[in-house]
Amino acid sequence: MQDNIQKLYREALVWDAHAGVFPSAEVDLNLLDEWPKFGVSYLSINVGFDVMQWQETLATLAAYRRWVVEHADRFVLVNKVQDIDRARAENKFALSFDIEGMNALNDDINMVGVYHALGVRQMLFAYNLNNAAAGGCHDQDTGLTEFGKQVVEEMNRVGMIVDCSHAAYTTTMDIMHESSNPVVFSHSNPTAVWDHQRNIRNDQIKACAATGGVIGLNGMGIFLGDNDISVDTMLKHVRYASDLVGTEHIGIGFDYSPKVDVDIGVILRSRPDYWPAGQQYDTKGIKHAGPELLPPLIDALADSGFSDADIRGFLGENFLRVATTAWHPSLAGN
Ligand SMILES: [Zn+2]
Repeated sequence: MQDNIQKLYREALVWDAHAGVFPSAEVDLNLLDEWPKFGVSYLSINVGFDVMQWQETLATLAAYRRWVVEHADRFVLVNKVQDIDRARAENKFALSFDIEGMNALNDDINMVGVYHALGVRQMLFAYNLNNAAAGGCHDQDTGLTEFGKQVVEEMNRVGMIVDCSHAAYTTTMDIMHESSNPVVFSHSNPTAVWDHQRNIRNDQIKACAATGGVIGLNGMGIFLGDNDISVDTMLKHVRYASDLVGTEHIGIGFDYSPKVDVDIGVILRSRPDYWPAGQQYDTKGIKHAGPELLPPLIDALADSGFSDADIRGFLGENFLRVATTAWHPSLAGN
C-alpha cells in the first residue's frame, strides 16, 4: 500500500452498513473488535430478522444495548451522526442497530418509534420471504403493501434509514417511490455482475442513486460470484455500480460475521424456505470477505483510477451523507 493511500485509509471514516452476525441475546459481542482492528469506524449490527419471533428481536436488542453500555470504554451507541465524530475523537467504535424484515413490528406501526428509541437506525422491509409490509427477494413479487407504505412514512418521520436489501424488485421500486429520504441497499451487489436473486438490477441501482442513496458492497462469496471473494471480483462489482451511477452512490455493507460457533451452512440448510435450493446456499464452506479485505481492496480501487475523494466516499462518506439526512428528519424538511 502506497504511503498516501495508507494515510487516507488511516484517516478515513469507514462505515460498514451491515454485519451478518446471527442475532441472538447469547452472542458474545467481543467479536465486534474485528471491525476497528481493520480501521472500521462505524457498524450497523443486526438485532433481528424475519426468521425470528419479534420478541426474540426485542430480547436481542435489550442484551446488545446492555453490553454496549457496559463496554462504554470501547464502544459508542450512536443516536445521531455527531456521535460518530465523538467516537472517532475518543478512539472508540461506533455502533447502531438494524433489523432485517418487518415481522419485528408485529403489525404495529407504533413499534417503528420504539425501535428507533432503542437505537435501531436502519430497517429492511423483508427478509427473503413476504411479510405484512413487503415482498421478499425469494418469494412472489407482490410489492409494498398499504402497511408497508405507512412504515416508509413513519421511518422517514422518526429518522431511520430505509433499506431495500432482501426485498423483491417491485417492492423496492415502490419503497423508493414512497420515501422522501434517500434509500439504501445496505448489502446488495449488481445482478449484471453476478446473477443471484439477492442481487439487484440496473434500474434498482439507478432508482436508489436517484434518491441520493447508496449501495453497500456485500462480501458474501455466493453473492459476489461462484463463492468468490477475490479482490478482482469485488472490484468488478464496485466498478460496475460506480460506472452505472457514480462513485458517490457506492459503499460497504460486508454482511460479515467473524468466525463464531454457529456454522452458517447448518443454519442456511435448516430453513430452505428462507434460503431456497438453487440459490447457492448449499455451497460447502461459503466464503466471506470482511474488513480484513479492505487494504487490498483500497489498493485495487486506487490502481483502477478511483481518486482519493472517490475512495473516501466509498469507505464511508457516502453512507454518512445518507444518515445525515435520514437520521435527522428536520434537516430534510419532514
Ligand atoms: Zn442480510
